[in-house]
Amino acid sequence: MNDDVKILLTESEMPRRWYNLAGDLPERLPPPLNAKTHQPLSYDDMSSLTPRDLTLQETSTEPFIEIPDEVVRAYRQWRPTPMFRARALEQLLKTPARIYYKYEGVSPTGSHKLNTAIPQAFYNAQRGTRRLTTETGAGQWGTALAYACAQFGIDCEVWWAGSSYDQKPYRRTLMEAFGATVHRSPSPVTEVGAKALADDPHSNGSIGLAVSEAVEVAVADPESGYALGSAVNHVLLHQTVIGEEALKQFAIAEDYPDIVISCVGGGSSLGGVGFPFLRDRMHGGRDVRIIAAEPDACPALTRGRYAFDHGDREGMTPLMKMYTVGHKFIPDPIHAGGLRYHGMAPLVSYAYNRKLIEAAAWAQHECFEAGMLFAQAEGIVAAPESMHGIAAAVAEARRCTETGEEKSILVLVTGHGLLDLSAYDAYLSGEIVDSELSDDQLDESLQSIPQLTGIQ
Ligand SMILES: *Cc1c(COP(=O)(O)O)cnc(C)c1O
Repeated sequence: MNDDVKILLTESEMPRRWYNLAGDLPERLPPPLNAKTHQPLSYDDMSSLTPRDLTLQETSTEPFIEIPDEVVRAYRQWRPTPMFRARALEQLLKTPARIYYKYEGVSPTGSHKLNTAIPQAFYNAQRGTRRLTTETGAGQWGTALAYACAQFGIDCEVWWAGSSYDQKPYRRTLMEAFGATVHRSPSPVTEVGAKALADDPHSNGSIGLAVSEAVEVAVADPESGYALGSAVNHVLLHQTVIGEEALKQFAIAEDYPDIVISCVGGGSSLGGVGFPFLRDRMHGGRDVRIIAAEPDACPALTRGRYAFDHGDREGMTPLMKMYTVGHKFIPDPIHAGGLRYHGMAPLVSYAYNRKLIEAAAWAQHECFEAGMLFAQAEGIVAAPESMHGIAAAVAEARRCTETGEEKSILVLVTGHGLLDLSAYDAYLSGEIVDSELSDDQLDESLQSIPQLTGIQ
């Protein structure tokens, strides 16, 4: 085994292909359904706001898809990302386990979201899109799309749910520094926004409303497109550069993980780091466990239902077969804003349903405790989302301390938390409360899952 702390790849070792798990499964994934007719989406339904290449990737059954040269060139600004052996953390935990973490916080915008923002901006620029619109929840996706659009000469317009917009002024500044226009949602510039403001001039908005605003603007302008930051197949595809790199880094380390972990909101980082290892296992490789870490305040995998549901609160977006706690679900305002999504990526959902991957839910205080340990040992202030994966890795390592097992653990640290210091501050001043979802709350929310006759 190699003794290095940083396991690095050169730029020329960067993967040239994304991995498409959908192309490697024994059956086709259930297709998305039109929100109104409940019929499978037509190509036209899908391609009106999205370039052809992305629509083809969304439905592709090819296991590998070539990364365009222009995208490789843009990736080189921060990729390949480092993989670290967490020796200090191992010592702190007195564990015989070997803990590795792959760190996506080195990207220009501080998270893994840029891995998909770059190709989405590229394909849009190629088809002549002048402007991309989107919504953002915690702000990471808006920041990534802002930078990616700047790289390919496209305008970027972001609708950001009011409550989060008010809490994170520096993140707005970052998006604006990358050239984006940022609206507090509800905004007066759209019909749905103006209507919401007329009803309540001080509305704090919601992600669902921000989606509606971004889509309204894109639909009304043939030169505009709309981009999504998680959950859908093409986003998971783009994120697989993470796992492809990690496979090569383990070869350099002369090791192989027994367990691969990431946090899950929509599921793109878990798919990104986990699916290339799953491929290895499905094709006769080593027996690796892949574990999703979700917040117990929004437990789509561990307590949700596998059913067709909408992606947004208003029920306007297509129905996707996924684990969901119901599209009307409003999670408590936890600090890991990027994990407050009611549904899970159809590919991750399928893999979980077929027991190809596992999942566990974590309480906020457990995440912050692990995040603090990680910061002090490894010098990285992780994003509150990433702490969920770190909590799962720390728990596995502690189990090894008890049993004496020498497991090898890989955790993906999806981003840094330097713009989330107010969350650390809340933890340090004792203001973090756990907010596990009660059965009653869950049951009520599950009722918003549409009842579709004749479809399972
Ligand atoms: C958005 C985000 C997540 C959650 O998204 P996934 O699609 O589940 O990966 C996790 N970590 C960070 C830092 C994020 O910005």
